[in-house]
Amino acid sequence: MKSIWEKLGATEIIMDLPLWVDNIHCFLFRGKDGWDLLDTGIYTPGAMETWKETFRKLRINPLDIRQIVVTHDHVDHFGAAGELQKLTQAPVKMMMQKNSLVSLKDWLKAILDEDNAFNYFGLPRELKEKVIWEKITQFKNWAPSIPNIEDISDQETIFLGCERYQILKLAGHCTNQICFYHPDLEVLFAGDTLVTPNHLNITTKEPLTEYFNSLELLQKKKIAYLIPSHGKPFTRVKIRIGLIAEYRKQQLAALKEYLAKGSTVYQAYLFLLSSSGALSDLFFGLTEVYYFLEHLVTQGDIKMITTKDCFYYLNLKGGERNEMDERRSGCSNGKD
Ligand SMILES: [Zn+2]
Repeated sequence: MKSIWEKLGATEIIMDLPLWVDNIHCFLFRGKDGWDLLDTGIYTPGAMETWKETFRKLRINPLDIRQIVVTHDHVDHFGAAGELQKLTQAPVKMMMQKNSLVSLKDWLKAILDEDNAFNYFGLPRELKEKVIWEKITQFKNWAPSIPNIEDISDQETIFLGCERYQILKLAGHCTNQICFYHPDLEVLFAGDTLVTPNHLNITTKEPLTEYFNSLELLQKKKIAYLIPSHGKPFTRVKIRIGLIAEYRKQQLAALKEYLAKGSTVYQAYLFLLSSSGALSDLFFGLTEVYYFLEHLVTQGDIKMITTKDCFYYLNLKGGERNEMDERRSGCSNGKD
């Protein structure tokens, strides 16, 4: 009997990552007149060697690559796209949107902007500078060239290899990412949809609600086999989605209780993620917690006060107001 990979004509390539996840799963799909590549990993000289070695093993001439498709604009998914485009001459296809991380300069400008929410997280100055420096370095090193991009926002289906997939646009993890659904085989290439709701762009939107909406949408789809970008493929998808939604809700409940004493974003991050080692990447962790807090504000569960230099979140129903000033003294992030 044919394996699912044979039916899809797909080959998995696992690329190492020096990040909070060890690797990313990229894919090659064999078509009648060439190959399609899904997600690239970050650029490093070693990663490019792995790609070239993979092409040699599969007897692929780099010019046989018909298209490079990217699920979303995080550097672990698109970093090597520019260099792979130089090697293969293939079009790079993804959803282009305002605020995309692909426009590196704009992203940095946005982060460094005085009004950016990131400046109000209550992060000590040295840490803030460290985080920004780290992100700038990562981008410079891991996505050294930005490819020419073909926008596929309007496209509803796409051929990967010989198979036609529905394109699902799922928000929450980032503004939008594209996932690929094979309705007959009930297979979903899910990108990072079920990984976490972390979000690099500071937007006016509230991604956690969108994230829960995406989970609900996936619950309704018939998915027999889900292939994520990080970690192993899995079956029993509905159960997994239910567990993820439940875990997120528990995190929100824990945060709400913690906020009885009031908190900055940074303090909430230390409470929720840092202590458990759940997200060691400070920037990802902070933005994730920020959106958790904004979600609770939208739900009317907590209040947010903006002081001169930071956002301060408080659960007014929680009591213990007398200790509030203690945490509030942590509300200094070196903006002055
Ligand atoms: Zn990822």
